[in-house]
Amino acid sequence: MNYTAHQIAEISNAKVIGNESLLIKNIAFDSRIIYSTKNTAFIAINTHKNSGEKFIESAIDRGIKVIISEHHFPQFENITWIIVENSVEFLQKLAKYHFENAHLKSVGITGSNGKTILKEWLYQCLWNEFSTVKSPKSFNSQIGLPLSLLQINDSHQLGIFEVGISKPHEMEKLENIFHPQIGLLTHIGTAHLANFNSEEELIDEKIQLFKHSEVIIYNGDNELVSKKIKEIYSSKKLISYGFKNLNNVHYKNGISKNEDVVIQYFDEEISFPVHQIDEATLSNALALVTVLKELGLDNKKIVEKINALKAVEMRLEAIEGVKKNIIINDSFNLDLDSLKTALQFLNEYRKPKKSLVLTDIIGVNANANELYEEVADLVNDQNFDCVFLIGNEISEFHKLFKARTFTFINTQELIDSKYLNDLENQIILLKGARKFEIERIKDILELRKHDTVLEINLNALLHNINYHKSLLKTSTKMMAMVKANSYGLGSYEISEFLQHHHIDYLGVAFVDEGVELRKKGITVPIIVMNPEQHSYETVIEYNLEPEIYSFRVLELFYEAVQKSGYDKKYPVHIKLETGMHRLGFKKFELDELSNTLINTNLKVQSIFSHLSSSDVPNEKDFTLHQLEVFEENSNYLINKLGYKPIRHILNSSGITNYTDYQYDMVRIGIGMLGESSNPEIQKQLRSVVSFKTVISQISLVENGESVGYSRKFKTDHPTKIATIPVGYADGIPRLIGNMAGNVGIHKVLAPIVGNVCMDMMMINIDHINTVKEGDSVTIFNAKPSLKEFAEYCKTITYEVLTSISPRVKRIYIKD
Ligand SMILES: *Cc1c(COP(=O)(O)O)cnc(C)c1O
Repeated sequence: MNYTAHQIAEISNAKVIGNESLLIKNIAFDSRIIYSTKNTAFIAINTHKNSGEKFIESAIDRGIKVIISEHHFPQFENITWIIVENSVEFLQKLAKYHFENAHLKSVGITGSNGKTILKEWLYQCLWNEFSTVKSPKSFNSQIGLPLSLLQINDSHQLGIFEVGISKPHEMEKLENIFHPQIGLLTHIGTAHLANFNSEEELIDEKIQLFKHSEVIIYNGDNELVSKKIKEIYSSKKLISYGFKNLNNVHYKNGISKNEDVVIQYFDEEISFPVHQIDEATLSNALALVTVLKELGLDNKKIVEKINALKAVEMRLEAIEGVKKNIIINDSFNLDLDSLKTALQFLNEYRKPKKSLVLTDIIGVNANANELYEEVADLVNDQNFDCVFLIGNEISEFHKLFKARTFTFINTQELIDSKYLNDLENQIILLKGARKFEIERIKDILELRKHDTVLEINLNALLHNINYHKSLLKTSTKMMAMVKANSYGLGSYEISEFLQHHHIDYLGVAFVDEGVELRKKGITVPIIVMNPEQHSYETVIEYNLEPEIYSFRVLELFYEAVQKSGYDKKYPVHIKLETGMHRLGFKKFELDELSNTLINTNLKVQSIFSHLSSSDVPNEKDFTLHQLEVFEENSNYLINKLGYKPIRHILNSSGITNYTDYQYDMVRIGIGMLGESSNPEIQKQLRSVVSFKTVISQISLVENGESVGYSRKFKTDHPTKIATIPVGYADGIPRLIGNMAGNVGIHKVLAPIVGNVCMDMMMINIDHINTVKEGDSVTIFNAKPSLKEFAEYCKTITYEVLTSISPRVKRIYIKD
């Protein structure tokens, strides 16, 4: 965009106080990530939850000269104000004007899943065909979409924007601002379904985006979607894609990994190799091909583009470095496309200085002169402080680079040069072809890692989820229990990962836990098992779903719903008591319960209960009795209610030991962390958690000396003792001292001697040769396993995990 303050005021009916002729090209809404203050206005966005006005001062501190706000704060001098009535409506009005006066082709993507991936794929395929603008990240909401649209400038030929909604009537507003020529509807899932009366209502809402579209491309596997689109938009050009053969675009043959797939595109066939054959990827590929066709790319080009496509979560990692540097490591591949993506990623960080390490580009069929000229242009746009070029080829072109530029034959030469030591408080982008191994630079620049860490392997977690899923019917939903900070492992990180992998539900214990997840962007339905009575308003505000286990909770919650003015049916989950004797409704209460429920606008989303002993073989009869009571009582309630909520009763060991009772959903907890009470199942699971540290010191303790507090261990010969920096303040119980427990060193068990201290403990390593200070120590993972460690502690794995102190750094691994 490119408007004067005066023009903006005219477009939006606002008032300018100050310099009307100031030019505005960007609008920033987050004062922390303003990347250029030149021609940038800061908008203080007010919503009912938050006011951006408190950030006006910090925006001005950063050098912003124009503030858009609902209120004028005359105490700030030399500022131009654009005073608006409503900040959100202002943005929408301006974006609408801007979009309607831009002359570009537009693609609008909506749906429950796949929006961001498809947008990124399309962008990767199209940015060098058309001058293309897209939504940053997943900016797709009432505020994100307008901000995305305002990025359009005169040179753009194509805009790709995603549009997301979570509540009724939102699409109408967004379509009023943005009417794409090509509309794309991806998969419709259950996300946000709870805010709608039915799937049909959700579909109706989403497809409103296409009111003014010329072409609608949609996933036709969903019959309801197909029917609706054909009914409402019969006069438009419609293209359906999906796995079913009746779609215009579908797969022709069976699909196997690393073989070509054939897409039947109307009466043409397009074949290309695929490397990932999960359903989501395959379905997205159909949508991608269809949009590319619609934009006029020929088949040869489409295949080329798909072959060049990188996984969207390219392994760009940002790492804390020494001397306050941030290192962005992208040392896996290098071509123009990925360089561009990395430069974009870089722009999300604000550091006063930035440097670049860049290598030869290998394996690209292009004229070197042209290639490196383009590279230099891209790089010169970024105002790097220093550019380090590695490789003979790129070094020849060093004169094209405007920053202070240094050249090296190989990575080692740069490392030896010590130039890297001078970098301070910078953001450093490492971008190289794999063979240069520039990740070695990362190792050098990286801040020393913590000695004691709890490492959580998300790949193993996914394996465990999939293993449990493989025991179930495909239609059975899965809820992941992420209560108590995900059993101590980090509820946001785990939930975010699970959301990405399409978990159906999340379960937390208390409202605060759910609120934290929502605030960080988790949109999956969340059940709160123990909603406390002062928290019901928050439950509703954050769209959480309470467990209702007694009449008291029911009445109080219903009161809160009425007070909140919520006018839809609010989803709740009814807990039945079947033998655990903890929480829940008993048989004799069900008549009254159903009568009460029918007279409220609460919707029973599910009916469930909990098994007390699904992991105890000796209690099989009791468990079967619990299951019987559940069957009977849930049926009774369903009959009374007159509709069929989903039912669930199995926890992790229930899934493996009582698979037949899976009903509509199961609730996995410890099982996804790789623990099972059943040895056969245990063999199939992968260990997720690794608690480890390193040896601080090794001492040879003379015969007859003592070790630790209260002299609890005395040597009877000269003994090699290692000290490790983990103690009871980290969650190691004191009772495993004095030889009750072991740790693993070089895959050998070594006993803990003397009393466990607050921050340390001592280990007898007399029987292990070749140990040195700094060597790794396993507190639990493989040897000892989590289960063995729990036995030392005389407790269960659950308690071990939830006791690990928050001061232990959690690290998440995924590739
Ligand atoms: C914690 C919990 C689970 C999960 O139990 P696991 O034994 O870890 O699988 C399931 N349901 C409810 C109600 C829970 O509180």
